[in-house]
Amino acid sequence: MADDRHYDVIIIGTGAGGGTLAHRLAPSGKQVLLLERGDYLPRERDNWSSTAVFVHGKYRAPEFWYDANGDEFPPEVNYYVGGNTKFYGAALFRLRPQDFGEIRHHGGISPAWPIDYSDLEPWYGQAEHLYAVHGRHGEDPTEGPSSTQYAHPPVAHEPRIERLSQDLEKQGLHPFHLPIGVLLTQDLNGRATHDSPCIRCDRVDGFPCLVNAKADAQVMCVDPALRHDNVSMVTRAHVTRLETDPSGRTVTAVVTELGDGTTARFSADVVVVACGAVNSAVLLLRSASDAHPNGLANGSDAVGRHYMRHNNLAMMGVSEEPNDTRFQKTLALNDWYSGSPDWDYPLGGIQMLGKSDAEQIRANAPHWAGRVSPEMPFTELARHAVDFWLCGEDLPEPHNRVTLDADGGIHLAIDEKNNVEGLKRLRHELEHRLGDLGMKEQHLLHHSIYMHKGMPIGATAHQAGTVRFGSDPASSALDVNCRAHEVDNLYVVDTSFFPSIGAVNPSLTAIANALRVGDHLIERLG
Ligand SMILES: Cc1cc2nc3c(=O)[nH]c(=O)nc-3n(C[C@H](O)[C@H](O)[C@H](O)COP(=O)(O)OP(=O)(O)OC[C@H]3O[C@@H](n4cnc5c(N)ncnc54)[C@H](O)[C@@H]3O)c2cc1C
Ligand code: SF4
Repeated sequence: MADDRHYDVIIIGTGAGGGTLAHRLAPSGKQVLLLERGDYLPRERDNWSSTAVFVHGKYRAPEFWYDANGDEFPPEVNYYVGGNTKFYGAALFRLRPQDFGEIRHHGGISPAWPIDYSDLEPWYGQAEHLYAVHGRHGEDPTEGPSSTQYAHPPVAHEPRIERLSQDLEKQGLHPFHLPIGVLLTQDLNGRATHDSPCIRCDRVDGFPCLVNAKADAQVMCVDPALRHDNVSMVTRAHVTRLETDPSGRTVTAVVTELGDGTTARFSADVVVVACGAVNSAVLLLRSASDAHPNGLANGSDAVGRHYMRHNNLAMMGVSEEPNDTRFQKTLALNDWYSGSPDWDYPLGGIQMLGKSDAEQIRANAPHWAGRVSPEMPFTELARHAVDFWLCGEDLPEPHNRVTLDADGGIHLAIDEKNNVEGLKRLRHELEHRLGDLGMKEQHLLHHSIYMHKGMPIGATAHQAGTVRFGSDPASSALDVNCRAHEVDNLYVVDTSFFPSIGAVNPSLTAIANALRVGDHLIERLG
């Protein structure tokens, strides 16, 4: 089947990168087609069920990838309109200015980007406004300058987290309000007002929002973009291959398997890949041809390499007093982002996780929980839990990579010891303070949001780096505008373009960059 229409722009994937780009292009009047392999996420009570979401993985992509030994594992990916942002915690951080330069880590070098913080800064501000980020610039001593303030005040701490913040300050640390994208209006006490879409519940991290009050790519970008007549979308449209003209310089067809089992071919002046870092690399590798024998736009051999996903771990403190917090994701701490008094290398950042419940603890740590407090039922343990997430930078090693086997199976090779020393030290910094913060026990929780028990390779939530941008076509696949060096009308705008990942959550940078590339495309298309 061939689609007779020729579009100005086809965007493949509707997550943080693709969905945001569609929103930027929509008012231009250009004919834009979104191709999304998933469907709309069903709205149902299970959206907020720990059992459905974490224990049964109801919304996960039902597929397996293979590790370096050829063993299969279920990746943490979700194929829906809005992509992984339907599930994200909406912690929307800017990279630090130094993250754009070369940084020496204990495990090696984090390379410089071809653009500076100041180049992206205007789009960071636009991204924060577009995704309704609540926060206050100026609180986090490690952040870069911002030309715009957040459009919304920080989400107020609930009493236990307010006390934690004060206790951290007493220790000379600099906790700040975590920047988070939610459609929340608060009254003077921080409670959701009667007309606030967000109800400040305990499901903010890892669950889709049943009431569409999380600032995800579907709610904030795709749905508004589709209100423009010039923007359309085909769901259950899995793009399997990009074809070029004989010279290899122009993509001429976007080959797509549709939900009814038929194959369609779409064409456009500009084709944008935004399938998520692993699947974008997969699509380019699957599009190998005589003109591009190693995969489309892969003369540099960079496509699929330099995979990053953050070194991260979830840690649970068991507070002496009950922790009745519902919306816990309001506090972060970057005091050890670039180093500590006895360590010259970066450690990373700390932020609160969504509040864990008994079901999540039972599913993730039954033996552990039983050992710690045999007398404490899971519900009681959950009531006292204070949940932290620690994030360190992993480095873009060429051997950490995505490849395909002869049957098209997806292989992911990673070195799990990649620059982990900083994260270990970050954990010790936090652990040795928790006692003074009124938490008698501290335990690692292999939290299903970010880690998989015994299978950390499956923690693909923060995947990035597989189609890096750069100024040298010999070592990067994309130029500074995220256009393929070797293909005139091909762009990539998801987290694939990151040359390094820093130690903050990646989405805001992908969103800001999609806005930047969108402005470039508007100029290019006239
Ligand atoms: C549980 C969880 C919590 C997270 N929390 C945070 C957080 O608090 N802050 C943060 O910054 N980040 C967070 N992240 C990460 C964040 O979700 C991702 O960084 C972000 O969504 C990446 O955007 P993207 O555009 O690169 O890819 P995605 O959002 O994954 O979008 C890719 C899209 O492409 C579609 N697609 C894939 N292949 C094809 C194909 N061949 N044809 C057609 N369509 C295709 C997919 O269905 C999907 O819609 C979290 C992720 C998870 C899973
Ligand atoms: S806290 Fe708000 S945004 Fe998050 S799940 Fe609850 S209602 Fe939705």
